Amino acid sequence: MTSDSAETTGVQHAHIGTAPAGLIDHPRGAEPGKPGDRGAFSFETITRLPDSADGKGRGGARYGRTGILHTPHGDIRTPAFVPVATQGAMKAVLPETMREAGAQCLLSNAFHLYERPGEEVLNEAGGLAHFMNWDGPTFTDSGGFQVLSLGAGFKKTLAMDVSGMKSDDVIAEGKERMAFVDEDGVTFKSPLNGSLHRFSAEISMRIQHNIGADIMFAFDELTTLMNTRGYQEESVERTFRWAQRCVAEHKRLTEERIGKPYQALYGVVQGANYEDLRRHAAEQIASLDFDGVGIGGAMEKRIIGDICAWICDAMPESRPRHVLGIAAVDDIFACVENGGDTFDCVAPARCGRNGAIFTRDGRYNVKRAEFKHDFRPLEEGCECYTCKDYSRAYVDHLLRAREFNGFTLATIHNEHFFIKLLDDIRASIDGGYFDEFRDATLARFYANGSRG
Ligand SMILES: [Zn+2]
Repeated sequence: MTSDSAETTGVQHAHIGTAPAGLIDHPRGAEPGKPGDRGAFSFETITRLPDSADGKGRGGARYGRTGILHTPHGDIRTPAFVPVATQGAMKAVLPETMREAGAQCLLSNAFHLYERPGEEVLNEAGGLAHFMNWDGPTFTDSGGFQVLSLGAGFKKTLAMDVSGMKSDDVIAEGKERMAFVDEDGVTFKSPLNGSLHRFSAEISMRIQHNIGADIMFAFDELTTLMNTRGYQEESVERTFRWAQRCVAEHKRLTEERIGKPYQALYGVVQGANYEDLRRHAAEQIASLDFDGVGIGGAMEKRIIGDICAWICDAMPESRPRHVLGIAAVDDIFACVENGGDTFDCVAPARCGRNGAIFTRDGRYNVKRAEFKHDFRPLEEGCECYTCKDYSRAYVDHLLRAREFNGFTLATIHNEHFFIKLLDDIRASIDGGYFDEFRDATLARFYANGSRG
């Protein structure tokens, strides 16, 4: 393992420009003739937040912590932001540029890669990291979110006027329901070509093993806040049965896939906003032989920290915790404080392509008329690649002209903003000033009524 010394240095940006030779070809814990060594994946706690009178965990516990997530393709210093490379690519930004922006790991989408190019292509390529030339750890989500989003109640199919409705079958008028859940799995129509497909615990595990990310998620049923309490209860039990099947299939595939690095599997806790359901689901997931936990599902912003704490109450400290699809700066603080280690979010890239720029003083849209003649960087004092050399006026021009470089420059800045935010939070926990840092950062970010 020539890469070990480089990987375990305490220097955050040790990899920049000097990728350790052979890291991708020789991940840790992969030996010819043997199944992947589970010992190559582990979580090491560095600093725990002190408990406090208003701590949301049992006995005033605050589960926030810094640590190191060891994976076969390298270490992740946590808490960490995980940029989303949905289709095995950050839109408009090369992996080496993401590394330069400080990214430690990337998350791709199992469903999209299954649809195109097909998971067997990634297996042939030597796994996701190798396929996309990313020199570091990767995650895949289970595909459950995308598959179930095709059903009633999500995204574009969600009926906008749901006042007075409390139904398990909310669907917008004129929209076709494209996914159906049964005990065994989900049947859905491909959004690419309308063909009929099936996802189940076993199929999701097969797809994710072939894709070969370091961290995978169990196939779960995602509900919405619109579903009835009765349906949420059924769904939590079904997700538990699917979780058991995922663990069994994961073990079988791990034994079968000789010579490959170990892939860690996280169980996902659902239960919407209900404390008793969340606690129950967390105990169920904690009872299974998972490597980590995914905090997922529909939840209201106001209790996002509580939900993390309820789940951590039941979870062994040694299991890393990933919060799926986090949305905003204040949510990140709430989730870090209550135990989240890693966070993925598509917002920085998606917002950036629309001209929304994140700064320490809140979010603004660079396509507003006032920036046409503004030759300052996107954010003064920002050390990202974009802000070193490019102006607001230029990025505004590129985005208006729909030039690809506009997407690139805006995405680099926004991804760097979130990566740096998590780096700074990590430093504040290790340095013993998290509370002050949180209060000052949130006050400044939201001072102008900023969203995001
Ligand atoms: Zn910048």
